[in-house]
Amino acid sequence: MNHHPENSPEIAEIYKELEAELAGIDPGCNACGTCCHFDEFNHVLYASTIETEYIQENVEVPPFDPAQGTCPFLIDNKCTIREHRALGCRVFFCNPAYKETLQEIYEKYYTMIKDLAVKNQTEWIYAPMMKLLKKEYK
Ligand code: SF4
Ligand code: SF4
Repeated sequence: MNHHPENSPEIAEIYKELEAELAGIDPGCNACGTCCHFDEFNHVLYASTIETEYIQENVEVPPFDPAQGTCPFLIDNKCTIREHRALGCRVFFCNPAYKETLQEIYEKYYTMIKDLAVKNQTEWIYAPMMKLLKKEYK
């Protein structure tokens, strides 16, 4: 696995800025964990290699089958890697009233993360996060 620890402080800074922006709009979330059951929600969580490397540098990834319908970091319906979770996890809220606003925020931070990858000459692959964690995207 390629490691680019130089990205870590910068991605942490990007996430911090994002969290401050999200706190200002507060789309509401009761932390029920349903959206981390991808099959139930019928959605796929996408992420970039820079985000999954940040996760892998900071937490242990439990054994899992990428075809399974639930995120392996979800335990007792709680995210166990909140501090290191991906952009898609942070920006997803099931409240439909915020769909467009959240889409704009997602694109803004996606671009910031991509710019970081370019600046630090880090490989950029954007794919389903479960596949990225298993390196099954090629
Ligand atoms: S965004 Fe919605 S589905 Fe996901 S944890 Fe929050 S309330 Fe539950
Ligand atoms: S990393 Fe956390 S927030 Fe993201 S899908 Fe998995 S359990 Fe949910």
